[in-house]
Amino acid sequence: MKEANKLSTLKRETYLRSMADRKLDLLVIGGGITGAGIALDAAVRGLSVGLLEKQDFAQGTSSRSTKLIHGGLRYLKQGDVKLVREVGRERAILYRNAPHIVIPEKMLLPIVEKGTYGRLATSFGLWLYDYLAGVRKDERRVMLSKQDTIALEPLLRSDILKGAGLYYEYRTDDARLTIEVLKTAASYGAACVNYAMVTDFLYQDGKVTGVRAADRISGREYRIYASRIVNAAGPWADELRAKDGSLSGKRLHLTKGVHLVVPHEKLPLRQAVYFDVPDGRMVFAIPRDRVTYIGTTDTNYDGDTSRPRATREDAAYLLEAVNHMFPGAKLTLADIASSWAGLRPLIHEDGKSPSELSRKDEIFHSPTGLITIAGGKLTGFRKMAQRIVDLVMKQLAAEEGRAFVPCTTDRIVLAGGHFPSPEAIPAFVRNLADGVEEERIRQLVGKYGTQAEIILEKMKTLAAVSDDPALQMVIAEIHYGVEEEMVTNLRDFLFRRTGRLYFERQTLPALTEPLLAVLAERFAWSPDRTALERQMLEAEYAEAVSFPEEREA
Ligand code: FAD
Repeated sequence: MKEANKLSTLKRETYLRSMADRKLDLLVIGGGITGAGIALDAAVRGLSVGLLEKQDFAQGTSSRSTKLIHGGLRYLKQGDVKLVREVGRERAILYRNAPHIVIPEKMLLPIVEKGTYGRLATSFGLWLYDYLAGVRKDERRVMLSKQDTIALEPLLRSDILKGAGLYYEYRTDDARLTIEVLKTAASYGAACVNYAMVTDFLYQDGKVTGVRAADRISGREYRIYASRIVNAAGPWADELRAKDGSLSGKRLHLTKGVHLVVPHEKLPLRQAVYFDVPDGRMVFAIPRDRVTYIGTTDTNYDGDTSRPRATREDAAYLLEAVNHMFPGAKLTLADIASSWAGLRPLIHEDGKSPSELSRKDEIFHSPTGLITIAGGKLTGFRKMAQRIVDLVMKQLAAEEGRAFVPCTTDRIVLAGGHFPSPEAIPAFVRNLADGVEEERIRQLVGKYGTQAEIILEKMKTLAAVSDDPALQMVIAEIHYGVEEEMVTNLRDFLFRRTGRLYFERQTLPALTEPLLAVLAERFAWSPDRTALERQMLEAEYAEAVSFPEEREA
């Protein structure tokens, strides 16, 4: 095994230099879940791997999903039994390997007049869904009468309700999952760097041999060479194919999906609900700690890929959907506490609407040797990675005579996931609590798993900057973020390492200045640099609750 790396901000330049100093086996472009999965699989199989991400890790689509590890009930409607089986199995593997961030979540599927599924179809569909995914007996679907459904979820409108199916999905934190995969890849020797953009490809005899990369923090330029280069740039994959001169045949079709967050008391659901919308689509409403989030939309997108926005029209669509199914909620724009918008990098199919486009992944081969992977789902990332690394290993075996090493990532526990079983987590929390408020420890373990221990140890070593233990813990958390998770600014920490801007927005005003002070000291920021950071955070904070008209977005 190669020497272990860390995802440390303080090592960014060392990793970039080390990538530039030698020829890698594999260079991955893109630090979303797809690129992260490929880096992990390749590193575990013994390849020397580098990964470059032009923004923060997961800042593309992989922090903007519905955050479900799911078997894909909608694929069943499309008759894609093979895909349902594959993602169902993947769900079980992920639950075993990352139980701290893959949490079983009961999902209620109401059966309504003129809805997508009737009672028989729901019962059979959910049974088949469970069967294909190999679901445990105690987690198999249950069919409910109208009375039982109302008892379980009194907020549902009763006039059109006929009953419900209750089944299991799994909830995750997409950005944290991406980070844990990257940290695990680093522990197997992968060098992964954020804010490092691939600006061009380098060729020899018509074959791609390397890239030019720009470190967007130091401004330095690097040339990095590798035997194989994989483009896992999600919504930007076609931009890179165009740069490579190989954008022909199938192309990406971007669709936008928006989620809204409201305080839990505004939509106090007892469990997640997947419900019909009058236009024939279906939408999730998912309670999570002190909020409920609602999504998603699915509309064609040809705007700026760097910052998709939730428009007034998107917000109105989701609010209307909720108010239609939960008439007592009476949600308005003023109730929205936060939001996010993401782009699905789907493969274009002539004549199909956004919702009809397949979610399957595809691999494109360029005559230059560049390999591109696009499409797919968060849930299927490990299998996507396996397909790519199998391909790379076969090519390296043929060209360089290297031995083919099979994929073993189904047995690789992700960083933070080292529990004897998911059932052991509550006892771990109780043990760690030891005098500290248990709920706070539960939340910490929910983000970092077994790594929460390191943060609590760190907390003890820090000079007391506050007599508020909650603040002291967050300060320990951001130090950990710098040393172990490549946090380079406050937005990385508040959006993608902790999800606070989406799910704990009310805590931010009190946190901003103390956390800025920590980063300013660690990175020796000037007062102007700190002020700029504050401004950028405030802009994104405001953006999450402002909804421009479609034409302004
Ligand atoms: P990305 O996460 O976008 O990563 C690509 C990365 O490449 C970006 O971070 C980008 O900055 C980087 N990059 C681009 N160009 C360069 C360059 N030149 N140099 C370096 N880096 C570069 N899936 C599920 O399984 N469950 C769900 O509940 C679910 N819900 C969804 C809801 C919505 C609204 C959306 C939009 C998607 C959802 N998905 C879901 C799908 C899932 O989120 C995506 O399939 C997945 O996140 C795509 O990951 P990716 O790594 O391919 O792309």
